[in-house]
Amino acid sequence: RFSSSYSSSSQTSSHSKPKPNLNGTRENAAFVVLVRNSELNGLRETLQNAEDRFNRKYNYPWVFLNDEPFTDQFKEWTAGLVSGETFYGILDQQSWGYPDWVDQEKARLAREDMANRNIIYGGSESYRHMCRFQSGFFFRHPLLAKYDYYWRVEPNVKFYCDVDYDPFQVMRERDLKYGWTLSIKEYAETIPTLWSTVKSFMAEHPEHIVPKGSPESLMDWITDDGGETYNLCHFWSNFEIGSIKWLNSKAYIDYFEALDKSGGFFYERWGDAPVHSIAAALMLKKSEVHWFYDIGYFHNPYSQCPREPAWLAAEKCSCDPQESFDTHWYSCTPQFLKVTGKKPTDFLITER
Ligand code: GDP
Ligand code: MN
Repeated sequence: RFSSSYSSSSQTSSHSKPKPNLNGTRENAAFVVLVRNSELNGLRETLQNAEDRFNRKYNYPWVFLNDEPFTDQFKEWTAGLVSGETFYGILDQQSWGYPDWVDQEKARLAREDMANRNIIYGGSESYRHMCRFQSGFFFRHPLLAKYDYYWRVEPNVKFYCDVDYDPFQVMRERDLKYGWTLSIKEYAETIPTLWSTVKSFMAEHPEHIVPKGSPESLMDWITDDGGETYNLCHFWSNFEIGSIKWLNSKAYIDYFEALDKSGGFFYERWGDAPVHSIAAALMLKKSEVHWFYDIGYFHNPYSQCPREPAWLAAEKCSCDPQESFDTHWYSCTPQFLKVTGKKPTDFLITER
């Protein structure tokens, strides 16, 4: 079933599988996992799964990051499971801590209030550091900044299908900046002032925004009223395959700093998923954002499962397409398809 793609030219149409690099050379890319020592066992299962489904054929490196030092056992039991090189990094005070302009007492009161209102993770201080780190810092960590692309993984996620092409190669060959698999709506209570902060940023930095109304603008995926309000749509960022260069660009850094200066990561509970997704929808072209429709994926409690029967079997998927979140009423994927004028099969990386 590979003969046609192996013998065709290196040109990629939207349906062609990229020709594998010669001699097992890889893209300049790595997996990245922010994780606690206590999550070792859930992580090992996921590592085994990701290696089995994809990485044993490619041997991409793994970068593990933690706000505390990794234990020797953590290092041994992860390095021993994966095929690629492993790197273990610790975070500094700047990327996991309070910036000096944040009023920590005001932040504490906000946590108390959100806990009383039973907002998910509303009372958690570490969750806020985590979301701020994932929003603005992981891609600047010295262990990661040298790569062109990252694939974010979390403990306990599952990959349901074989991935028998190299997603990093697809990212480079198609000049993609952001890849995702599931989309959903955010809890409004966690982001009361996020959109007004984004609007101030847009007014101050129109040069970073894909012009509204341009055919390449993805803005209508995140707003139903031309930018007046945010419709809460975001890519579920526990899975991401993205461009590190894009996140390190002036546009993204200006955006992150505008958000960070407002203190909303601490006074509210802004998640990295809406933060990344709003950036992608405002600052990237439609053609730079790819739905990895064919990467079967599970993060509790939702899954993405491709639907084409022939494809499901060929890629040895173990998921149930009827459970796939992409057609759920709470998914934002139908709106993504509408705005981009595409159908799911347009995103298959294959030549069937
Ligand atoms: P959820 O997916 O929003 O429920 O959040 P998770 O608990 O899965 O956290 C997201 C990611 O950040 C996971 O990879 C966690 O392992 C990691 N993470 C969350 N909190 C911390 C923390 O305090 N320290 C470290 N080192 N990792 C964390
Ligand atoms: Mn998670």
